[in-house]
Amino acid sequence: MAKYVYDFSEGGKDQKDLLGGKGANLAEMTNLGLPVPPGFIISTEACRAYLGVSTGLTAGELPDGLAEEVTEHLEALEKAMGMKLGQPDDPLLVSVRSGAKFSMPGMMETVLNVGLNDESVNGLAAKADGDERFAYDSYRRLLAMFGATVLGLDPAVFNDALEEMKDDRNTSNDLDLGVDDVRELVATYKKQILEHTGSEFPQDPREQLDMAVRAVFDSWNTERAVLYRRQERIPGDLGTAVSIVTMVFGNGGMDSGTGVAFTRDPASGAQGVYGDYLQNAQGEDVVAGIRNTVPLADLEDIDATSYDELLGIMAKLEGHYKDLCDIEFTVERGKLWMLQTRVGKRTAEAAFRIACQLVDQDLIDMDEAVQRVTGDQLAQLMFPRFDEDSDRNLIAKGMNASPGAAVGKAVFDSSTAVEWAERGEDVILVRRETNPDDLRGMVAARGVLTSRGGKTSHAAVVARGMGRTCVCGADSLEVDVKAKKFDGAEGVTINEGDVISIDGTTGEVFAGEVSVRDSLVVRHFEGDEKAGSDELVAAVERIMDHADKARRLGVRANADTPDDAARARRFGARGIGLCRTEHMFLGERRSLVEALIVADGPEDQEKALSELLPMQREDFKGILESMDGLPVTIRLIDPPLHEFLPDYTDLAVEVALEDEQGDRDRRHHKLLDAVKRLHEQNPMLGLRGVRLGIVIPGLFAMQARAILEATAERLAAGGDPQPEIMIPLVATVQEFELVKADIVRVSKEVEDEKGVSLDFKIGTMIELPRAVMASADIARAAEFFSFGTNDLTQMTWGFSRDDVESSFFSTYLDKGIFGVSPFESLDREGVGALVRHSVEKGREARPDLHLGICGEHGGDPDSIHFFHEVGLDYVSCSPFRVPVARLEAGRAAAG
Ligand code: PEP
Ligand code: MG
Repeated sequence: MAKYVYDFSEGGKDQKDLLGGKGANLAEMTNLGLPVPPGFIISTEACRAYLGVSTGLTAGELPDGLAEEVTEHLEALEKAMGMKLGQPDDPLLVSVRSGAKFSMPGMMETVLNVGLNDESVNGLAAKADGDERFAYDSYRRLLAMFGATVLGLDPAVFNDALEEMKDDRNTSNDLDLGVDDVRELVATYKKQILEHTGSEFPQDPREQLDMAVRAVFDSWNTERAVLYRRQERIPGDLGTAVSIVTMVFGNGGMDSGTGVAFTRDPASGAQGVYGDYLQNAQGEDVVAGIRNTVPLADLEDIDATSYDELLGIMAKLEGHYKDLCDIEFTVERGKLWMLQTRVGKRTAEAAFRIACQLVDQDLIDMDEAVQRVTGDQLAQLMFPRFDEDSDRNLIAKGMNASPGAAVGKAVFDSSTAVEWAERGEDVILVRRETNPDDLRGMVAARGVLTSRGGKTSHAAVVARGMGRTCVCGADSLEVDVKAKKFDGAEGVTINEGDVISIDGTTGEVFAGEVSVRDSLVVRHFEGDEKAGSDELVAAVERIMDHADKARRLGVRANADTPDDAARARRFGARGIGLCRTEHMFLGERRSLVEALIVADGPEDQEKALSELLPMQREDFKGILESMDGLPVTIRLIDPPLHEFLPDYTDLAVEVALEDEQGDRDRRHHKLLDAVKRLHEQNPMLGLRGVRLGIVIPGLFAMQARAILEATAERLAAGGDPQPEIMIPLVATVQEFELVKADIVRVSKEVEDEKGVSLDFKIGTMIELPRAVMASADIARAAEFFSFGTNDLTQMTWGFSRDDVESSFFSTYLDKGIFGVSPFESLDREGVGALVRHSVEKGREARPDLHLGICGEHGGDPDSIHFFHEVGLDYVSCSPFRVPVARLEAGRAAAG
């Protein structure tokens, strides 16, 4: 029979899959001998069985044997603690906490104080030296949490009652409420539960426990949890574990409290004592940002013994995990308890700094340091910052919770944030504090500003996790969400729609728009020597240097202009993997293409081509010069012909008008005929790629001639051009061979004309499933393959790449059919399997076949790891993603 429940002493930090991150780390701390309240963990397997993932069971049924196992572990816990769950005179109380493999802060549910009822509340008071206020306050919290989480009441029902009572008693601080007030709240909450559910709050402690466990399981699938997983690309079938932990109380008086600590500053990486502490409060108060906390260092004055012990534990944890740890703890009447630890989330800036600091402290080596940062974090560091020299109107300063520079219109609720963002506006979500339901708005906004809560508040944690700029706890701001406005310094009022700028690196808030400038890291990549002296830039450089040494994959860029090529080179690209030539036919050259299409015969066609030739030659000369000494893969023209022609209806109207006015234009008539003739129902499946080259003779030959003449000219100028001519959308080797023969013919002509010997390659894109299946044949003729994974994804799934992402992908994502768009991150099982097959067959036929990828996936971290694994030679991506690809290629090799 399956085992579903584990005691803390049975697990360890590497069992996150089974025990969830929280459970695994509670077990690890227990085994390290740290003061962890005893408890046990219901595994993610149990949750998966309950949710019906891969078991075929109806969702919502607890798996066989789970109840008995819980009983067994509960009894052992009761025995160890010498009291029973909810025992009237001496109650054992537990917290029921969610915890998945990947941290999903605030997204799932937790219920505290389980075991309290009308009787045991008095037992708790007696145990707390008769402190009834404390006991009833704990009961009140259970009722609110249980009511909202387990019974599905709107949390506002409880919050409003509390706020009303505080208003009535003329206070804004819950601590001012007396024992009678809290008793009254308990009665009100119970009445609300009865009214809303038709049943009394369950008095049976075990029933409470079982219902809470189910509620935690169910919370895996709440809308906000699903959205968060999608955002963070966390698979939907992992399920959550449930930790059942003996309650310790931070709300038993001023000698108690609760806090959050970091072993280093999660915003900058600097070592020190970071965190927040709240006296006389229980767990979630800090994270929810309900009351303003004090800095952790103040605990030294409040309770020196607990403070010293905490610092000792923090040092031990950092040494043990060899990383920044974040910690939740509670002090119960002077006794310190550890409630949670995990390797802490951090900003991108801190990630690079900490990785290097840990190397300098001999805790990790450079291979490990490269694993401690991600391409996405590097991309964040390449975001712009505010221009320090520009005019700014500072209206507040809060905490620098998540770096970056965000400018947008102030909005005060998530729905407006989503709505305005969808119509293309930049918005900043302004709240007093955020709660998990604000996630939609946070995703849609450029940045988040709150007036309450510390660096560990929900807003801060979530924003950091998703790389969203965030300033929190700007408590000089009077935020009025209902009136949709806030008041800042010196009488400045910001209404909904007014532009503000927030600096997540300094915590500053400005009225109006502040101009932004490039990041230091980008300036460094661009060759600005001054930027190199910055500590962060130095850390990035050190890690990139190691990644470059470690990586096997080459990194090239997709670039169509000499400027892009030059930038890509500065960013570390070693060649061009895709130069799309169709962009060179737009603008004023479009009329030449039109002329080519409507040409009356070979002579007219020849004329149009000969006008295009010198222009193309100059294009290629510029790019070959920018990438001198490095390979440049030039793809012959690809897109559907109709893209070069005018819109049918517009042209038809124009022609009709001209005819009517007796002003008949022969060329326009020919053009109209051509537009009619070339109209396609499915242009993506029509006359494009190699097909175009075959149907319009002379077009590919002209391009090949332009490339080879440019090569000859670069050689004559003393350069080292390395062109690779690439044929798109090939399905069969016959297509490839036809075009190749023509290119070889042209090359001989150019060699004869110029008196040079030309060295170049001819290869193909692999973009069609048929080409994959014919890889061996094609490889015998082609010197290189470049996987066009945009088309290969389109053609494999049968998804129109132009349409589906905006039409039904959100439904597919919601239903978990895939966790991320296959156009964004390579679908390993489908498209990836095709790539793997093609690599194997191609290399069997031609062992030195050179292999690359130039679809959008070339800049996607996860896909890059796959391309490393299947043995490609290089990835090619947009110039700005080149550093990301270098880093991820290094991580793939060093991992
Ligand atoms: C591809 O299909 O992956 C590719 C790179 O070509 P394009 O995007 O130009 O069709
Ligand atoms: Mg393509």
